Amino acid sequence: MTDPAEIQAAARLLKAGRLVSFPTETVYGLGANALDAEAVARIYAAKGRPATSPLIVHVDSVEMAKSLVTAWPDAADALARAFWPGPLTLVLPARDVVPPIVRAGLPTVGVRMPDHPLAQALIRAAGVPLAAPSANRFTQISPTTAEHVRRSLGDSVEMVLDGGPCAVGIESTVLSLAGPRAVLLRPGGVTRAQIEAVIGPIGDADEAPEGAHPSPGMHPRHYSPRTRLLLVKDGEVPRDGRGIYLSYGRKSPPYAARRMGHPNLTVVEMPASAEKYAARLYDELHRADDGGFDWIAVEQVPETPEWEGVRDRVKRAAVRE
Ligand code: AMP
Ligand code: MG
Repeated sequence: MTDPAEIQAAARLLKAGRLVSFPTETVYGLGANALDAEAVARIYAAKGRPATSPLIVHVDSVEMAKSLVTAWPDAADALARAFWPGPLTLVLPARDVVPPIVRAGLPTVGVRMPDHPLAQALIRAAGVPLAAPSANRFTQISPTTAEHVRRSLGDSVEMVLDGGPCAVGIESTVLSLAGPRAVLLRPGGVTRAQIEAVIGPIGDADEAPEGAHPSPGMHPRHYSPRTRLLLVKDGEVPRDGRGIYLSYGRKSPPYAARRMGHPNLTVVEMPASAEKYAARLYDELHRADDGGFDWIAVEQVPETPEWEGVRDRVKRAAVRE
């Protein structure tokens, strides 16, 4: 566990308008004081992220969340009770204290209370909500370790708090409560079924009114590695080049390697549970990018509801342009 002096030092940097990378249970964030527009501008600069992408604001309590929004409907209350701290972001109408740059000019803001002791301690010590997207250059894979952050952002981030590997490993579920009906904008760690068990049926992003979700998570290429990613069934992998094969639900290496004696194949047995698979996925994609592989082949995962978040990220990672 990071020592208290380090958290105090990080909080001082944040209060001075600087950037600090910190762990959450989903991925590592690149944080700035959400109420300081100049500080938030540094996030966009460090990431090379277009200003059209809104940031999630991290809070340490429901009270802090309420200080950022003009409405806190019963659904927000019930969901926060059920899933906070945790990987669920709620999109609500924003108060004026939230600078437009945080929300990419939208009238709404996404808020979330992270389930990580270091993140909570940091927000508390800073005494302000922290705007924090994933701590990587725009278009790269989100970081799930402090080492991923350093490799992606280098000197542009003044401090990286190291909390070890992220337990959830993919980005939060994003749910809009800003319209007449709750709408799932991005699947993630909290499943649709879990949400519906609390507030009843919810809608999908494509039902949202025009312009209501100009969000980076909706950009098809947002989660792609540089390495070519292929979705495969039955272990059919390219014959040429060096590749990684993420095997699912098999005890033996894929057919291509077994039958043809593929000379350049690294086989990774992925965990059988959706949660454990998600926690591991980005680390494997980073490995493909860092190791100079020619391709990474991902074996199809189940179609069942608990795999929705993983399926979404794998599908997006396979998009080239
Ligand atoms: P990231 O910080 O990269 O995990 O992405 C932030 C995500 O939060 C985006 O993909 C959006 O889906 C969502 N988001 C944040 N704020 C808003 C907002 N005001 N309206 C809609 N979506 C938002
Ligand atoms: Mg991101």
